[in-house]
Amino acid sequence: MTRRGVAVLGSTGSIGTTALRVLGRHPDAFYVAALTAHSNSALLDEQVRAFRPSFVGIVQNGADDHREWHHGPACLVEAAMHEDAAIVLNAVVGAAGLDATLAALSAGKRVALANKETLVMAGELVARACEHGGGEIVPVDSEHSAILQCLTGRAGTEVRRLVLTASGGPFRGWERDRLEHATIADALRHPTWRMGRKITIDSATLANKALEVIEAHFLFGLPYDRIEVVVHPQSVVHSFVEFVDGSVLAQLGVPSMELPVLYSLTHPGRIADTGVPPFDPVEMSPLTFERVRHEDFPALRLGIQAGRAGGAAPAVFNAANEQAVALFLEGRLQFGDIPRAIDSALAAVGGAPSQSREALLAADEAARRHVRERFAC
Ligand code: NAD
Ligand code: MG
Repeated sequence: MTRRGVAVLGSTGSIGTTALRVLGRHPDAFYVAALTAHSNSALLDEQVRAFRPSFVGIVQNGADDHREWHHGPACLVEAAMHEDAAIVLNAVVGAAGLDATLAALSAGKRVALANKETLVMAGELVARACEHGGGEIVPVDSEHSAILQCLTGRAGTEVRRLVLTASGGPFRGWERDRLEHATIADALRHPTWRMGRKITIDSATLANKALEVIEAHFLFGLPYDRIEVVVHPQSVVHSFVEFVDGSVLAQLGVPSMELPVLYSLTHPGRIADTGVPPFDPVEMSPLTFERVRHEDFPALRLGIQAGRAGGAAPAVFNAANEQAVALFLEGRLQFGDIPRAIDSALAAVGGAPSQSREALLAADEAARRHVRERFAC
C-alpha cells in the first residue's frame, strides 16, 4: 500500500491530538506531512519530535525558538497546499479554517473536515471549490460520518430523511430560568464527549446541532425539511438514515472521535484498528431518544432558519455564535444571551451580500461587531 501524507491543521486541539493518536497507530498507511497550531508551541514541538513532519506552522508564538517553522495565519494554507499532503485534516476551530479548506479542495485533495464552521459559513463556495478543483470532503463530525457510512455504495435518490442525534448537552434536563444564568463551569461539563471549549459551549446551547444540520445540508444535498434532530443522551447511535421504502439504517459505536477520524482517512475503505474498546450493547443500554425542547434551546431553530434563508445568513449565524461564545467564556455575556445575540445579528445583517469569499468575510465581521457592540458588558 502507498502511504498517504496527512496535514493536520489544529494539531494541538482535541480533534488534532485524537488524529495524531490514530495516525500513530497506522504508520504503514499514513505519515504526518504537516502540522499547524495556533499558539501552543510546547505541545507542537513535542508533536514535531514524535512525527517529524516536513512542514510545521504556528499562527502565534514560537518565532524566536523555532525559526525553521512557518509563522502567521498564512501557514494554514501553506500546510494545506504542501505537496506531501494528500489528505488535509482540518481540525481548526471556527471561521479561521476557511481558506485552508478552499485551497485544499481547489488543489484536488481530500479534506477530512472537523472544522464544520467552514461549511456553514461558505457552503456554496466550498462546493464550487470541490467541483472546480476535483477535491472531496469527508466529514469527521461523528453524525456526518455515521450518515456517510450508511450511504456509501447507495444512490442518493433512495434517501427520504436524515435524523441527526444530539446528546442534549449538560443542560438537557434544566428548566429555562436556570439555563439563563448557567455558569461557564456548568456549560463546560459535557456528559458524553471531551472536546474543545467552543464546541462544548455549542453543545450546551444546541448551536452545535444547528451547525450540523447546515453541514448535513451541504454535504448530502438534502433540503432542510428532510433533516431532523432527535435527542439521544448516550451518544451511541451517531445518526439515522431513513430510505424511501421506510427502512432505517444507523451507525453505532462507543462515543470516541477516534472512529470517525480514522474513517475520514480511509473512506470508502476501512483498516483494522483496535483503538477503541469493543462494542458491548448490554453495557451501552438502555439507548433512549427524546424530542428536542426547541423553546428552551432557541439556537437550534435560529440556525435552521438561517440555513433555509441561505445567502450570508448561515455565515452570520456562525460568526454571531462564535463571538457570543467567546464573550461568554470571557465572562462578558450571560448564557441565555447567546441565542439572543445570534437572533439580533441575523435580523441586523443576515441579508448581507454573499456571492464571494470577501462578501462572506465582510458579513462575518459585521455579525461579530454587532454582537460585541450590543451584547458585551
Ligand atoms: P480545540 O479548541 O480543542 O482545538 C482547536 C485547534 O485549532 C487547536 O489546535 C488550535 O491551535 C487551532 N486554532 C484555534 N484557533 C485558530 C486560528 N485562529 N488559526 C489557526 N489555528 C487555530 O477544538 P476541537 O474541539 O478540537 O474542535 C476543532 C473543530 O472540530 C471544531 O470545528 C469543532 O466544531 C470540530 N469538532 C470537534 C469535535 C470534538 O470532539 N472535539 C467533534 C466534532 C467536531
Ligand atoms: Mg457532532
